[in-house]
Amino acid sequence: MREFTGTGVSPGVGVGRVRVMTGTVPVPPAEPFTGDRVAETARALAALEDVARELESRAAAAGGETHDVLAAQALMARDPDLAGEVTVGVSAGLSAARAVYESFGFYRELLGGSGAYISARVADLDDVRDRTVARLMAFAVPGVPDADDEHYVLITQDLAPADLALLDPERCVAFVTEEGGPIGHTAILARAMGIPAIVACAGALEVPDGAYVLADGASGTLVLDPDPARIERARAAEKARAEAVGSAAGPGRTKDGWSVPLLANVGGPKDIQPALDNGAEGVGLFRSEYLFLDEAVPPSEEQQIAAYRAVLEAFPRVVVRVLDAGADKPLSFLPPAAVEPNPALGERGLRLLRRHPDVLRGQLRALAKAAEGLPADRLRVMAPMVTDAEEARVFTRACREAGIQQAGIMIEVPAAAVRAHDIAEEVDFFSLGTNDLAQYVFAVDRQVSSLTRLQNPWRPALLDLMAHAAKAATEAGKGCGVCGEAAADPVMACVLAGLGVTSLSMSSPSLPLVRAALAAHTYAECQEAARAARAARTAGAARAAARSALPALETLGL
Ligand code: PEP
Ligand code: MG
Repeated sequence: MREFTGTGVSPGVGVGRVRVMTGTVPVPPAEPFTGDRVAETARALAALEDVARELESRAAAAGGETHDVLAAQALMARDPDLAGEVTVGVSAGLSAARAVYESFGFYRELLGGSGAYISARVADLDDVRDRTVARLMAFAVPGVPDADDEHYVLITQDLAPADLALLDPERCVAFVTEEGGPIGHTAILARAMGIPAIVACAGALEVPDGAYVLADGASGTLVLDPDPARIERARAAEKARAEAVGSAAGPGRTKDGWSVPLLANVGGPKDIQPALDNGAEGVGLFRSEYLFLDEAVPPSEEQQIAAYRAVLEAFPRVVVRVLDAGADKPLSFLPPAAVEPNPALGERGLRLLRRHPDVLRGQLRALAKAAEGLPADRLRVMAPMVTDAEEARVFTRACREAGIQQAGIMIEVPAAAVRAHDIAEEVDFFSLGTNDLAQYVFAVDRQVSSLTRLQNPWRPALLDLMAHAAKAATEAGKGCGVCGEAAADPVMACVLAGLGVTSLSMSSPSLPLVRAALAAHTYAECQEAARAARAARTAGAARAAARSALPALETLGL
């Protein structure tokens, strides 16, 4: 038995023969194209259209969250500016494949200008490019192998959402990637689809096609040639986990009753039902920008009120984030002042709203109207990308002017975490955005998939910053939730509770297991896990230290 360790991102056990997915698409040569340029342009555009159609049909078959990601990819392939760029490239003497390849270099910027939504991952974008280039060069389109095996474990470098959508969970019993990270789309979708998954598993591609393996998506271990006892243990753990999830109901709390409300991250009314089905006690992050990603002009007040009201009526507490436009989520009606070399460090979030104060005022007014007649504490509103107390004060004042009682900020800029005690004086609550906080504190662009493994929320520097912000909130008598993907990891959820955070918000499918993990431990155990994790020097050591301080994880099969 040989073991490989990665990050388990979707719990569950898969045992079967390995299918290795390889197939990289070559970079098309830059030699000048000497044939018929009109026909070559038509060939390029036809390939883009074919790819768009294929992605759309996969989207229709997949439904749910996967549908949205694939539909966004189809939009990328159909972007008129991209087509324009390709046409110019071929007219200038490039082959169709090369023109497509080069045009994708401009793609993010062009999409921003056209108001479409880039679904936040460069892996998604590269996948569209590779599919188109493969078609044009008559290469096999990279993708999931046609596995005849009854049960197989897929091993691959990285897995694009379009390929993940094709996996049949009856046959693909788990997948393992060498790259990727816990907050990538693929990890989020794997949880939503219920496929056990391990990412950032170094050496996994050394396992030969056809080998017999066990992949444990809870512990993150890939075992080559597992013996029956090892399989038995993993299966027993899985059973225990299913039982614990089934029996943990009600509000989030530790074994000894320390309350940690469990909330859902939503993008609009369509996410209400899954949140209710998974027992969300409220909404901890309503990403309001998701409602308007394809709008060319600011949404009307009526449009906004309808969407906000639906969510406000469904839950006893709802935290709405005002439009977080810019960088990975461009909105065409909220443009930055100029094209930016580093959009993640540019005008985004509150910075953009301060450039467009009418949009902010209009949104706050719509929110206040949507909450009319509902209990006063139902609506809480927060700002993204706040850096210091001055910005926080401006935002709180704007909320008060609109008649909103509860005004908070996301802590996602390291400076805001470091000086959280200043900011706590200005706002009613904090919410830790671990996705961006990790991006900025580790200096790792969250859109570069080859670096996702470095965005590990277990790195002690991030734990320290979160502890610092939570302490500042506690001392000021304010709440401090977490709404980044880190909250969805049941082990991390216990650590966060121990660090002093007051609520956890995550995508709905993750709620039951987090509820079970909290319910299995005392508050003192969570505190000890937090202390032990912070005392470690690396992400791996931090997670291991937390696990050993949380004895019931074993019985939960985690
Ligand atoms: C975050 O940054 O952690 C967060 C929750 O916001 P988003 O992922 O939408 O940027
Ligand atoms: Mg963020």
